[in-house]
Amino acid sequence: MNLIFLGPPGAGKGTQSEGICRDYGTIQLSTGDILRENRKTGTELGQKAESYMIDGELVPDEIIIDMIKQEMRKPELAAGYLLDGFPRTVPQAKAFDALLSQLGQKLDCVLVLNVPNQELVARLTSRRTCRSCGKTYHLMFKPPLAEGICDLDGGELYQRKDDVEETVINRLSVYENQTKPLIDYYQKQGLAKVIDGVGKLDEVYARLKAVLD
Ligand code: ADP
Ligand code: ADP
Repeated sequence: MNLIFLGPPGAGKGTQSEGICRDYGTIQLSTGDILRENRKTGTELGQKAESYMIDGELVPDEIIIDMIKQEMRKPELAAGYLLDGFPRTVPQAKAFDALLSQLGQKLDCVLVLNVPNQELVARLTSRRTCRSCGKTYHLMFKPPLAEGICDLDGGELYQRKDDVEETVINRLSVYENQTKPLIDYYQKQGLAKVIDGVGKLDEVYARLKAVLD
C-alpha cells in the first residue's frame, strides 16, 4: 500500500505511523526525520534546511523535491510506503504526482488526521523526542517508562527547538496557509479520507485501521 499521512504538526502522524507500518508492512518516510538527521550529521542539505526549521517555516520546495526523488529510489519502498510530512505544498504534491507516473506507481489513500489547534499546542509543547531514533513521547499522554530516556534504544529525550509555543503557533499558521489546500487537492482525486485524531492513542488507531481495512 502506498499512503500519504496528512495533518497539522502534532496531529499524531509519527505516533500512529508505527502501528500502520507494523500491521500493513509499509515503510515510513518522514521528511522531518530525514532533515533532522541531515542537520545532526552536518550535511549540505542539513545546513540549507536549518534556519527554516528553527523558525517553523517550510524548507523551499526545490530542496524537498530533490530530496524525495532520491529517497523514492530506495528498493525497500517497493513493499509500500507511508509518507509522513510530505507533501506539504501544492507544488510538492504536483511534483510528486509527476514522479509517481514516472515510476509507474499510484497512491492508495491519503489519510488526513484532524485535531483542533488548542490541542495541538498542548501536544507539541510537551512533546519529547529521542535524539537517536526520533521516536516521540508526551510528558502526560505518552510518557516514557523511565523519565528522559527512550523506551526503544535508551537515547536521550529532548525538546525540539521548534516545539516551543511561539514557533508552534507559526507552524500551525504555515499548515493552515500552505498545507491545508492539499486536502482539497487529494479530495478531487478521490483519495482523501478525513479521520478524527482526538481521543486515546488506540481509539485513533482503530479509526485509521477501519479506513485502511
Ligand atoms: P506529528 O508527527 O503529527 O507531528 P506526533 O505523532 O509526534 O505528531 O505527536 C505529537 C505529540 O502528541 C507527541 O508528544 C505524542 O506523544 C502526542 N500524541 C499523539 N497522539 C496523541 C493522542 N491521540 N492524544 C494525546 N497525545 C497524543
Ligand atoms: P511536524 O510534523 O511536527 O510539523 P516535521 O518533523 O514533519 O514536524 O517537520 C519539521 C520541519 O521540517 C518543518 O517545520 C519544516 O521546516 C521541515 N519540513 C519537513 N517536511 C517538509 C516538507 N515536506 N516541506 C518543507 N519543509 C519540511
